[in-house]
Amino acid sequence: MRGIGRILATGMAVLFVAAACGGGATPAAPTATGKATAAATATAATKPKFELSHYTYSLQAKGKIRVGTQENNPPFSVKNPATSKWEGFDVDIARELAKAIWGPGDDPDTHIEWVPVTSAIRVPTLTDNKADVIIKTFTINEERKKQIDFSDIYFFTGQRILVKKANTDIKEVADLAGKTVCAQKGSTSEKNISTATQDKAKLLLLDSYPACLIAMQQGQADAVSTDETILFGLVMQDGNTKIVGKYFSDEPYGIGVKQNKGGDRQGFVPFLNTWVATIIKDGTWGKLYEKHITPVSGDKKQAPKG
Ligand code: GLU
Repeated sequence: MRGIGRILATGMAVLFVAAACGGGATPAAPTATGKATAAATATAATKPKFELSHYTYSLQAKGKIRVGTQENNPPFSVKNPATSKWEGFDVDIARELAKAIWGPGDDPDTHIEWVPVTSAIRVPTLTDNKADVIIKTFTINEERKKQIDFSDIYFFTGQRILVKKANTDIKEVADLAGKTVCAQKGSTSEKNISTATQDKAKLLLLDSYPACLIAMQQGQADAVSTDETILFGLVMQDGNTKIVGKYFSDEPYGIGVKQNKGGDRQGFVPFLNTWVATIIKDGTWGKLYEKHITPVSGDKKQAPKG
């Protein structure tokens, strides 16, 4: 009896998987085995096919993609300390990417190995082949393009300034001269502050923007300056802060990948570009914006530039 019970339980599990994979769409034989075959056929049918020489083929065969992102970069990426689950816009973009490689029937998290990064180690993480992609508020620029490749733009923002609500002397970037400004080490934010103030601001460089917020709360910095959308996330954490000044840079984000110099990333950037265009066109991007960015920005968008 116990044996039969176990077989039945296994059959039920197969049925459950079949339903979860959308296998229910195909009429199946009445036995549990028949259902399993139908489920396998349905999964195979929705699993994308790639050219043998392409990087996506080897990723799919390996069953894993290593995604570099940051543990504390809200609203883009956070490893929730209570649940250990990854959340945020960049995190869900990574999940969409996994779906594009393994098909919508699989739980994308089963295919993702999260590689925690900070701004400063994004480029070496790729050049040292420690991640397949970096999806972490990563501005596309010429300097970085000398060492790595980027996908087309999947998010667009610009740099602004965060100060305490009571602050009245910092209104624009020029007012940062002589002030201590916090930014993440290795970011474009760091460089943009120096350029915009002709090196007249004192930089406090830390490993995350929430750490910069704490530094400002404790009086170690007069301002925090980085991409506006990241600052929106910080205002959400501390209502005693405000964002000031106009944009003083363009920050177009791309997905960073290792260059295909040795032929070991064949077809990867074109694949990413087609996929980015698809998720924008089919409304997935707009849904993710509404889920993660709208709660902090208050606006809605269907594409990186509007
Ligand atoms: N987007 C900028 C950069 O890539 C600042 C944000 C960050 O440090 O992640 O450097």
